[in-house]
Amino acid sequence: YKILRLILGDQLNLQHSWFSQSTPDILHVLMEVKAETDYVWHHIQKACAFFAAMENFAETLNDKGFEILYLHLDDPENHQNFSGNLAALIQKFEIEEFQYQLPDEYRLDHEIERFCNGLQIKYRAFDTEHFFTSRAELGLFFSDKKEMVMENFYRHMRLKHHVLLDESDDPQGGKWNFDAENRKKLPKNHKPNPPLLFENDVSKQFNKIRDAGIRTIGNIDPAHLPWPLNRTQSLKLLQYFCENCLQLFGTFQDAMHTGEWSLYHSRLSFSLNTKMISPVEVISTAIDYRRNNKKAVAINQIEGFIRQILGWREYMRGVYWMKMPGFGKLNYFNHQKKLPEWYWTGKTKMNCLKHSITQSLDFSYAHHIQRLMITGNFALLAGINPDDLDFWYLGIYIDALQWVEITNTRGMSQYADGGLIGSKPYTASANYIHKMSNYCDSCKYDRSDKTGENSCPFNSMYWDFHVRNREKLEHNHRLLMVYRIWDNMDAQLKSSVLDRAKYYLENLNEL
Ligand code: FAD
Ligand code: SF4
Repeated sequence: YKILRLILGDQLNLQHSWFSQSTPDILHVLMEVKAETDYVWHHIQKACAFFAAMENFAETLNDKGFEILYLHLDDPENHQNFSGNLAALIQKFEIEEFQYQLPDEYRLDHEIERFCNGLQIKYRAFDTEHFFTSRAELGLFFSDKKEMVMENFYRHMRLKHHVLLDESDDPQGGKWNFDAENRKKLPKNHKPNPPLLFENDVSKQFNKIRDAGIRTIGNIDPAHLPWPLNRTQSLKLLQYFCENCLQLFGTFQDAMHTGEWSLYHSRLSFSLNTKMISPVEVISTAIDYRRNNKKAVAINQIEGFIRQILGWREYMRGVYWMKMPGFGKLNYFNHQKKLPEWYWTGKTKMNCLKHSITQSLDFSYAHHIQRLMITGNFALLAGINPDDLDFWYLGIYIDALQWVEITNTRGMSQYADGGLIGSKPYTASANYIHKMSNYCDSCKYDRSDKTGENSCPFNSMYWDFHVRNREKLEHNHRLLMVYRIWDNMDAQLKSSVLDRAKYYLENLNEL
């Protein structure tokens, strides 16, 4: 072989121009390495899904006639990191040029760049041909603006890519944003369509990971992994979403329920983040489906969905490349508390957290509002160190890759960036959780109490958070009301609220 090409586990893009013609003198390598399995405690479903999807990808390329080398975790020649393996392969095959696709994660980008700088042969980086934006595009868009408002970027993307516009380039439906019509609680007796679950057998991958002694978290039935593991399954899931979930996606986007773990969400994030499918085809499939079934899908439903992918996903990627590596150390509130132990087990009496965490352990999945307003909200109010949180979020979710995990966790959810991503911290008391879910109905704690022994911890911790961070937050115009309410509260009540919060904060593991 003349050329060695590296394909990372999240670069399973069959439509990449690398694969548009046969290349007999190019060797493609995929590798399972401990450097990747060990940097956090991954959910066992996530670890199995990545390895199985990689193996499927290698097999498909092999069937198409490409030269593939797949290095298994237990291969005796495996150096267990990218640089070591690449160096050995370049030597073994007397390679003349090394090629790779730009990694999405800073850690790998850095490692491969360093590796290339030490090479005696030619090397070349390619785009992944996946995203709407390049790494630098968001930075350029915001370079002459004071604030990095997602909404502005999203509208720019709608215009630039001509998505959901009418003939005169105005937004379809007369508005850019239909959030006000969305965000409904699931009505009693409303049963969402069940999620499409695959039954992939990943016993081989499971045994390999177990035998290598990799530390993982979460539960799995290795004979029935529900996640899509190749392009065909990913496209099936996309089609299922259009036919069964899109029509109520917007309406129930923020809803939570004890009996439902994915509601009308697409669960496409693993397929997207591994690049088995592209954001362009997800968006165009949804739009085509709506065009052909207009009555079935209202504008607020599809706009809500497209905003997540064309807006939030590209925005987070742009922020990541603008702000890393510094972003990874931000801690605006200087939060230092350890993550409560029950984040790893789900064993807490707080029903909302119990459900959100237990389903995360069972499915390696929670939807956005569970991540933001339940586990994230609690951690922010409690003052948990964002390093601990990144470790947790980066491991537990099937879709967790640092570029999209850290921007959501440290930025959106923990406000550790001091307001770069969110215009105010995402905090809420039991009021909001009750408004959006049925969690409080069967909880040990009393959602309407903030001082008593049985009072909901969110209620007192909400006030404690705002009081202890007053200096940093009181001038935020979106929080003026919060401080006004606090200032007008009876002094005795204020003191009882803070006492209750203090007790909870000192006994986090017991909640
Ligand atoms: P849907 O609700 O069906 O949305 C469709 C798609 O939109 C998703 O697949 C995803 O690609 C995209 N999307 C939606 N919201 C966001 C967002 N805020 N940022 C970027 N893309 C978005 N998403 C990840 O892909 N990986 C992560 O590691 C991750 N960590 C998160 C951590 C926290 C604390 C929070 C609050 C959010 C995180 N998200 C992450 C964003 C979001 O929660 C998930 O993308 C979503 O829940 C995936 O489920 P879904 O495919 O059913 O999404
Ligand atoms: Fe969560 Fe409080 Fe409601 Fe219990 S009462 S489910 S702890 S918000």
